[in-house]
Amino acid sequence: MKTILVAGAGGFIGGHLVNALKKNNHVRAVDIKPLNRWYQRSPEAENRVLDLRIRENCVTAVNGCDEVYNLAADMGGMGFIETHKAACMLSVLINTHLLMAAREIGVERYFFASSACVYNAEKQRDPDNPGLRESDAYPAMAEDGYGWEKLFSERMCRHFREDFGMVTRMARFHNVYGPFGTWTGGREKAPAAICRKVIEAKLGGTREITIWGDGLQTRSFMYIDDGVKGIVDIMNSAIEEPINLGSSEMVSINGLVDLVEAIAGIKLERKYDLNAPKGVRGRNSDNTLIRRYLNWEPSISLKQGLEKTYAWIFRQMTEGRK
Ligand code: NAD
Repeated sequence: MKTILVAGAGGFIGGHLVNALKKNNHVRAVDIKPLNRWYQRSPEAENRVLDLRIRENCVTAVNGCDEVYNLAADMGGMGFIETHKAACMLSVLINTHLLMAAREIGVERYFFASSACVYNAEKQRDPDNPGLRESDAYPAMAEDGYGWEKLFSERMCRHFREDFGMVTRMARFHNVYGPFGTWTGGREKAPAAICRKVIEAKLGGTREITIWGDGLQTRSFMYIDDGVKGIVDIMNSAIEEPINLGSSEMVSINGLVDLVEAIAGIKLERKYDLNAPKGVRGRNSDNTLIRRYLNWEPSISLKQGLEKTYAWIFRQMTEGRK
């Protein structure tokens, strides 16, 4: 049985990862948020509240661990990252101090959660994006703030491997969604935000929805179960360079709204807010490398994943949770 640190365990992906890892391991779950604000809390895990920007706290968190998964970051959807660039960049302290502590303690493996926001903006101007290959991160022109922090932290992991012989693994997540994800409060991402807006319209009888941008921008969305499997498999693989972990089922934001409306059984009048944060024009995941290395890629359909996510958000809203 290994002792595994999950940093950011009070958040969306971290909470699901703890559930998967605790079956065969002792899990130390760490987050900066007070325990009562964790999205999921596992009684079988060792749950600790620590600010991992602080080096001493990283040593405490990593002490005695065989493996570290770093999912801790100050982040959110476009509405958050476009307006909190400094906060996003300060997450560099978390990864840097965790890496230093992991090296000092001699952990066997270290995972860093990177993002598709590292990709060069020039390669995301066409909504008909053929899929971003891992090499498309360079020459670097990442998402300002959040994306630059992820790119820098990837390189820290790379150099800790090259110079200090640490086993570091990095996955570039493309939009992850599912139950227990942020769905309100300003940090939510498109799938959860659209589910919430459709439910609000359905319950409130307004029959209207406001969409950020013109709705023609494209993305791909990965259901959380595929995300957790990919994270663990990449951690345990021989893949040394950052690799895409995302769905290649690209959809426009209008298409995403169509799917959620179909689940809800309503049709809404669409209003487009062209001044809202929109992000890049087109983004998709090229999965050639992950297929080659793992003989697998995320495959849960958007329709299937949205049905579960919608049902979960519906329960949160009708049971009055925030
Ligand atoms: P999340 O916000 O739900 O979880 C992140 C957690 O990190 C939060 O609970 C937060 O409290 C914690 N945290 C922040 N600062 C901390 C600190 N100083 N010390 C300890 N904990 C701290 O986000 P998520 O969706 O679960 O994302 C997890 C990771 O995956 C993040 O690194 C994120 O950047 C990355 N990622 C997520 C997506 C996505 O679509 N969800 C896409 C790309 C990358």
